[in-house]
Amino acid sequence: MSNVWFITGSQHLYGDDALRQVAADSAVIAEHLNGRIDAEVICTPVVTTASEITDVMRKANADDECIGVITWMHTFSPSKMWIDGLKTISKPILHFSTQFNEALPYSEIDMDFMNLNQSAHGDREHSHLYALMRKSRKEVVGHWQDEEAIEEIRTWVSAAKAFAAGSTLRVVRFGDNMRDVAVTDGNKVTAQAKLGWSVDYYGIGDLVEEIEKVTDEEAEALVEEYKSAYSVVTDDIAAIKEQAKYEIALERFLKNTESTAFTTNFQDLHGLKQLPGLSAQRLMAKGYGFGAEGDWKTAALTRAMKIMSENDSTAFMEDYTYNLTKGNEAILGAHMLEVCPTIAEGEIKLDVQPLGIGGKEPPARLIFNAKAGDAICVSLVDLGNRLRLICAEVECISTPEPMPKLPVASAMWKPYPDFKNGVKAWLLAGGAHHSVLSYSLTKEHIIDFARMAGIECVVIGKDTNVSDFELKLMLGDAAWK
Ligand code: MN
Repeated sequence: MSNVWFITGSQHLYGDDALRQVAADSAVIAEHLNGRIDAEVICTPVVTTASEITDVMRKANADDECIGVITWMHTFSPSKMWIDGLKTISKPILHFSTQFNEALPYSEIDMDFMNLNQSAHGDREHSHLYALMRKSRKEVVGHWQDEEAIEEIRTWVSAAKAFAAGSTLRVVRFGDNMRDVAVTDGNKVTAQAKLGWSVDYYGIGDLVEEIEKVTDEEAEALVEEYKSAYSVVTDDIAAIKEQAKYEIALERFLKNTESTAFTTNFQDLHGLKQLPGLSAQRLMAKGYGFGAEGDWKTAALTRAMKIMSENDSTAFMEDYTYNLTKGNEAILGAHMLEVCPTIAEGEIKLDVQPLGIGGKEPPARLIFNAKAGDAICVSLVDLGNRLRLICAEVECISTPEPMPKLPVASAMWKPYPDFKNGVKAWLLAGGAHHSVLSYSLTKEHIIDFARMAGIECVVIGKDTNVSDFELKLMLGDAAWK
């Protein structure tokens, strides 16, 4: 299980009794967090000297299960002692600006109380050093039993898990990028240096070989599983069986290569009868990342966001069509086939329909509507000199009318702050048509993740003003060299 180290800073100025109390209080806070966040909280001995601080940071770095460290200043802990430790630590940091004692005991307060409970004092010394050393960290402020503060820590833990998994996140890329398309491409080496993601090319023939090994019995058993899970609305069971073979073969291929995400490209399907549709949807539902048209960035981002959300309501998505009637403007998102059913509401149909492009046989696919509710839409783009994450807060809506002829899964949403300004900001930021739509994550997850990776992140939300947003993008160009 992943863990976070809870490191409490102090010094020897206050005497042994005070340090014993600091250690006891640290243990209480760590225990309170344990079970409330989705990682084991390891309470380390209170650190009071430079060598102790450096030592604990070295050990945190060396612990494979450690996804980050939380620092807390119960008392004042002079920050020059922390310089070497902060140079050493390579894991994400959260500074918890909390105080053991919640309410000031007005009638009892004396200098003993002040010396023991001085987070307001110690936090400023501590964070000054982060600022001086340009060390990025999440600042969480509030009492340690405050649910809002704990929620912020929980969000950070989810992002830290996805960030930690980056170094083993491998994307299998069948073929290259769709010809001529800009936004799905980018610098794979930069992405690996920043995010850990490795993106490896395989010929589609390698997958075809794996598909040929799948037996009829295996495929037929999976078709039976489909029949019990979805409403099959076609007689073309042979086409469904073909996708069942793809699903089995793709999953084996991913397991054999220790990969958790993949891309396909409809321009490169030699030896396949269909574009993988149902099979890609099924693998996404199991938690794998996916990007169409060779889009390795969105494939890896889908996987990262599935880790953050524990695969809840998080899907590969594509901005497709607008409704532009005044007052009801919205975006209809879909893809040729590959939308993850974790965002579905209501009936999921399994159908076989022709696909106008690619020149292959009609592929099997799941068809459904996505649920209504608040969500985020996230795009990762390569601007040549850097990666930029764009996170838009959106409201997913039920489609006002049924769309009986639409042969693919879809979602409909209204961007914040309103349609025009939300779309304008997305376009100004260079946001892609491919994105990851998640109902269970918030902008805070994406901001935390970007901070850990040291990449730019812009948010388009309820309070976005397009003029200010443009200025932010200009400042970003100056800052992110
Ligand atoms: Mn696409």
